[in-house]
Amino acid sequence: SMENDYWRVCDLNGRPLARAEYPASQVLATNATQRDRRVSIRRHDGQTRSLSITAAPMRMPDGRMQVVATITDITAQLSAEALLRDAAADATNAALHDPMTGLPNRQLCEDYLAAALASARQGGGGLLHVFLDLDNFKQVNDRFGHHAGDRLIREVAGRLEALRHGPEVLARVAGDEFIFLHPFTPGDDTDAVLARLSSAFEAPFDLGDRVVHVTVSMGVSLWPGDARSAEDLWQNADLAMYEAKRRGRNQTARFSPRLRQRQTEEARIAQILQRALKARAFAIVLQPLVALD
Ligand code: GH3
Ligand code: MG
Repeated sequence: SMENDYWRVCDLNGRPLARAEYPASQVLATNATQRDRRVSIRRHDGQTRSLSITAAPMRMPDGRMQVVATITDITAQLSAEALLRDAAADATNAALHDPMTGLPNRQLCEDYLAAALASARQGGGGLLHVFLDLDNFKQVNDRFGHHAGDRLIREVAGRLEALRHGPEVLARVAGDEFIFLHPFTPGDDTDAVLARLSSAFEAPFDLGDRVVHVTVSMGVSLWPGDARSAEDLWQNADLAMYEAKRRGRNQTARFSPRLRQRQTEEARIAQILQRALKARAFAIVLQPLVALD
């Protein structure tokens, strides 16, 4: 009998099966074969085996119905499948996360950005894209070593992650660069979000054997105001971040079309200078300075 005091028949999730749900009962009820029905046997001491049951109806010479079944123990097979599934999930997870901080990496950030943009488009909301780059981070490496630098990055990541909530996204996209995405509804105070991010840098960072003060430069770009595509949004926040660096670091700059114009103009001049240099088109002109007295 399938019913006794020592074990119970359950589905693979551990829900006990009613008698009518047993494979044999179903064969008798439907007069059809049940193939690869998966059940688990739970013993009262906690042991579990998983079984695959294939059961078919068979009419006896005297007209009564019997059930013929093949039962295969698939416990090992299922745990191997689960292991493979877990390994595949781990591999995907590793490919999309930064191993040092556990944060989403650039690729996953791009996916999140595309998804956030799609949902903002659909729901009529906006998206705040913040590019953060630590100021003079190289000095921490140079003065205290790479381990201290690594530790600082982890500490920064931890503080920013603690400030993140709801649908916001925090990613580490390069060495000392982070991206923070904040979906908003029109009329929301985006300055408050930026102040929240800045507050992560108020207290000094404890690197074990020393404590350092670190500042950050932030570049901000808004959808739909500043950009039409995810790529624009990313580039414009990057550009605004460089503007914050240029103004002296430790501050936040918002994108404006003027920044793009200036960048285009600077790139054009750099090109011209490079070409002129190659063509040896520079000549040195010395101008004498004469004292008239
Ligand atoms: P700036 O204010 O202009 O941003 O100056 P910075 O010194 O922060 O320079 P920048 O952001 O251009 O360069 C970041 C440096 O971070 C470059 C690299 O030497 C270092 N770096 C990149 N990844 C890691 C890392 O994983 N660990 C450590 N310790 N250093 C890293
Ligand atoms: Mg930096």
